Amino acid sequence: MPAPVREFVDRELVPHADAWDREERLPPEILGRVGELGLWAPFLPPEHGGRALPMSGLTRLHEEVGRGCSSVRSLLTVHGMVAWSVHHWGTDEQRARWLPRLADGSLLGSFGLTGEESGTGADVSGTTATPDGDDWLLTGRKKWITGGQLAGLYLVFAQGGGGMTAFLVPRDAPGVSVTPLTGVLGTRASHLAEIRFEQVRLPADAVLGPLGWAAGTVMTSALDLGRLSVASGCVGIIQACLDASVAHTRTRMTADGPLFDRQLVRRRISDMVTALRTARLLCRDAARLKDAEDPAMIMANMVAKYHASTAAASCADSALQLHGAAGCSPQHPVARLYRDARVMEIIEGSTELQQITIAEQAHQEVTR
Ligand SMILES: Cc1cc2nc3c(=O)[nH]c(=O)nc-3n(C[C@H](O)[C@H](O)[C@H](O)COP(=O)(O)OP(=O)(O)OC[C@H]3O[C@@H](n4cnc5c(N)ncnc54)[C@H](O)[C@@H]3O)c2cc1C
Repeated sequence: MPAPVREFVDRELVPHADAWDREERLPPEILGRVGELGLWAPFLPPEHGGRALPMSGLTRLHEEVGRGCSSVRSLLTVHGMVAWSVHHWGTDEQRARWLPRLADGSLLGSFGLTGEESGTGADVSGTTATPDGDDWLLTGRKKWITGGQLAGLYLVFAQGGGGMTAFLVPRDAPGVSVTPLTGVLGTRASHLAEIRFEQVRLPADAVLGPLGWAAGTVMTSALDLGRLSVASGCVGIIQACLDASVAHTRTRMTADGPLFDRQLVRRRISDMVTALRTARLLCRDAARLKDAEDPAMIMANMVAKYHASTAAASCADSALQLHGAAGCSPQHPVARLYRDARVMEIIEGSTELQQITIAEQAHQEVTR
């Protein structure tokens, strides 16, 4: 990891992440610093403002930021999914129009898939796009949109055009309204919002990717990147849990010496070390496959996300237990890590959806 990024995490994220979590917001200066360091979408090619960072570098970057603050890492995830989608599925005009500002962070992107009215999984039936001459009229509601309060551009999935279609929706389009969501269990400083679309008129060039076929194209590739990013962020959470647990148990005294010297405590610590190494290796393997554009990357990302998120939740649970009452305090990072880790099992494909898909793949491989 480049020294400036590690320094940024240690000096500018770690000491403030608990306060931001309580305030449920990130200061604008920190978002500016993310831009100065070129962290918003570094995988973009130089002609669009990036530095063509391979996925192997991106996983390390998101791990490092995740160690410091899951809210910042969450913003990087969804913003990256939007930039990635425009880069991979956009026309030359769409790339030229949106990517330079997405690359430097002067325009932030949010990813709008989940609607309150729709069913489980990627059901977007609660948001519809109806043709009107050359335009589209977008109506619906997207709930739980990370970065939704800050974003200037929403990537919205809607029912229309003969199936699911993706739209690039500027925040200032008439009919778009943004309601902040507060008090959510984890990633509280990620500026969550509910976004409503009331007959939002969009030109034909707001469509991203193939009409009616966003499910197997724009959505799949964006979620694939999102899963790898969340999995990497989970590795960072595990590292933070391990660091905090070792530091605390070495100084917390029992009648017979430091807590760290008790065998039951060491078992928890060694399980964290093992979870950390396993999750990190799975992320690096998935990143390697993604860099090689190997189709096996989709399943590798799912396995990495499934393992890293469940391991982060389990390690955060252990870290909390090892800290005792201190871990329950809102002043202690472990309480935040515990809440953030729990959310990771729900977002970017819940644990159950990963289990169902991974098992289905195993079934296909055995019966092939
Ligand atoms: C902090 C946070 C940030 C988020 N950010 C975004 C964002 O930026 N963009 C966005 O689009 N969405 C976002 N979401 C929404 C998130 O992606 C969804 O919450 C997630 O996909 C789960 O969908 P759901 O909440 O509708 O749960 P449901 O789909 O209603 O599922 C409820 C439970 O049932 C389980 N389940 C579902 N189907 C099955 C099945 N067939 N078998 C067994 N169990 C099943 C699920 O695993 C889950 O545990 C965010 C959510 C949170 C909490």
